[in-house]
Amino acid sequence: MSVKDFIEKDYYAALGVPKNADADAIKKAYRKLAVEFHPDKNKGDAAAEERFKEISEAHAVLSDQARRAEYDEVRATSASGGYRNPGAGAAGASGGFDFSDLFGGAGSPSGGFGDVFGDLFGGGRGQGRRRGPRRGDDYETQTSISFVEGIDGATVSLRIATDAPCSVCAGSGAQPGTRISQCGTCQGSGQVSRNAGGFAFAEPCSACHGRGRVVETPCSTCRGRGIAAQTRTINARLPQGVRDGQRIRLKGKGGAGEPGAPAGDLFVTVKVAAHKLFTRSGKNLTMTVPLSFSEATLGADVKVPTLHADAVTLRIPAGTSSGKTFRVKGAGVKNSKTGDGDLLVTVEVAVPQRLTESMKAAVEAFKDATAEMDVRADLFGEQ
Ligand SMILES: [Zn+2]
Ligand SMILES: [Zn+2]
Repeated sequence: MSVKDFIEKDYYAALGVPKNADADAIKKAYRKLAVEFHPDKNKGDAAAEERFKEISEAHAVLSDQARRAEYDEVRATSASGGYRNPGAGAAGASGGFDFSDLFGGAGSPSGGFGDVFGDLFGGGRGQGRRRGPRRGDDYETQTSISFVEGIDGATVSLRIATDAPCSVCAGSGAQPGTRISQCGTCQGSGQVSRNAGGFAFAEPCSACHGRGRVVETPCSTCRGRGIAAQTRTINARLPQGVRDGQRIRLKGKGGAGEPGAPAGDLFVTVKVAAHKLFTRSGKNLTMTVPLSFSEATLGADVKVPTLHADAVTLRIPAGTSSGKTFRVKGAGVKNSKTGDGDLLVTVEVAVPQRLTESMKAAVEAFKDATAEMDVRADLFGEQ
């Protein structure tokens, strides 16, 4: 007989007695049925033989006080879906039940059985299987930094409403000046194993709530939880090169854990402001610099600002087209690991919108001087 039998079979129904029937009633019912379905009286009747077996099995269990108690508990527990993964030591404590029946799955009836054992051996949904003190919660927050801070990294102050270690008891949960001792129920492990219906259940120790220690007098501020709600200001260092919208994980800066458990993490979503001159492109910075027509044509030394250092002078060669890009090495995003990026300067020839008389005369003269030049010659060459 296995636990599976216990769950599947209704021995009370088999004997036709109520669940609270006493030993006498069970004995009486069994005798009556045993006589009726005895193989000697029902030769060749397979159904009667089957029924006789059923009656005998029911009687064997229900007439034995200890086994009946086990049977009742297994039925009650399985009906409520309360099975949990047996913890360490389950094999030793299995009380002679056949666990292999459970694993095999052969002949698994439809109905609740599969669900019960899915929970039992499927493992790891973790519901209600908390072991020991709880890790702190993770927190989310956001912060805004300037463009330059995004490039260089920045130390930011983050104000967060969060669970923090209780300041009165320093997170121990004990009223200051009182003793904390090891839990005598679980010997400090935080877990106890309970034996029920042949299963060993590992569960958090109820005496210490899984903490392994007990406080004599709980802290009156946090009622022994060791955790109190607080507004905290956290100074955090954001790394170099944070991009707009990036989510940074600050390990251990989240909610405090229960005594003995680690704190959660803090996740910071960073908004990086735009810059009026520079745009980020990976590790490089880009910018657009206007050139006058004469600078582009004759060439010029042009002063260009950089994000960090002084302005640099860019040598624009004669005959530079609008849209040409120049590279200023090392003037991009600082990165101590992968090396600094570059500043990419794209020039754009500025066309004057208003001309004075003398400017107009100069341009007219230029036009006459270049009358022989056809800038669109390529469009109408040999096809
Ligand atoms: Zn406290
Ligand atoms: Zn305990």
